[in-house]
Amino acid sequence: MTERGTKGFLIVVEGVDGAGKSTVLRHLAAHCETRGRMVITSREPTNGLHGRRLRESASRGRLPLDAELDLFVLDRREHVAELILPGLERDAVVLLDRYYFSTAAYQGARGADPVEVLRRNEAFAPEPDLVLLLDCEPTLSLERIGARGGGADAFEGLEALEAVRRIFLSIQRPFIRVVDASGTPESVAAVCAAYLEETLSARLG
Ligand code: ADP
Ligand code: MG
Repeated sequence: MTERGTKGFLIVVEGVDGAGKSTVLRHLAAHCETRGRMVITSREPTNGLHGRRLRESASRGRLPLDAELDLFVLDRREHVAELILPGLERDAVVLLDRYYFSTAAYQGARGADPVEVLRRNEAFAPEPDLVLLLDCEPTLSLERIGARGGGADAFEGLEALEAVRRIFLSIQRPFIRVVDASGTPESVAAVCAAYLEETLSARLG
C-alpha cells in the first residue's frame, strides 16, 4: 500500500448503484463545511478522458474485461496524481464517491479476481482513512433508482449487483465500516458522519 504522510483525510463512500452514495457524500461535504474544514469531493470514474470512456462503455456496449480494468487503472492514476494527492497535501478532507473497492467488486462480478484487483490498485493508490460501505439489498437500491424492472444498463442488473454486494462484503481492511443503508437518508448520513468524526479525531485529537 502506498505510504503517505499524515496530511489530509481520504474518505471513500462505496456501495452498489442506488445504495445512497451520492446522497451521503452531499451530507458529509455539508457536515465538514459547517465545521470549517476544507473539503474536496470527487468521484470515480472521473470526468477525465478515461473516465468518460468507461461511462460510455457502461451505457453502450461493454469493453472486454481486461481493457476495462486497464482503463480504471489509467483513470485512477490520473485521479490520484491530479486531485487526490494534491488535496491531501493541502490538508483537505477528500471525499470520494467510489474508489478501487468498486473496481474489485464490479469487475470481480464480471470474472476478475478481486484480490488481484486490490493488489494492483494498492500498489499506487493512497490507502483511505475510512471507507463507508453502504450496504443494502440490491432489490432496494434498484427500487431507489427506479430500475427494478430490468432494462438497466450492464452495471445495474440484479444478479450482477448481488455478486457485487457479496464481493464488497468480503473485502477485509481495517478502515472499512459497513453501514446499513436501508434507513432514511438522514439516519444513514448520521451514522456516516459519526464514523467520519471518529476517524478525524483519532488523528487530530
Ligand atoms: P448512489 O449514488 O449510491 O447510486 P444515490 O445517492 O444517487 O445513490 O441515491 C439513489 C436514489 O435513492 C436517489 O433518488 C436518492 O434520493 C434516493 N436515496 C438515497 N438515499 C436514500 C435512503 N437512505 N432512503 C431512501 N432513498 C434514498
Ligand atoms: Mg451516485
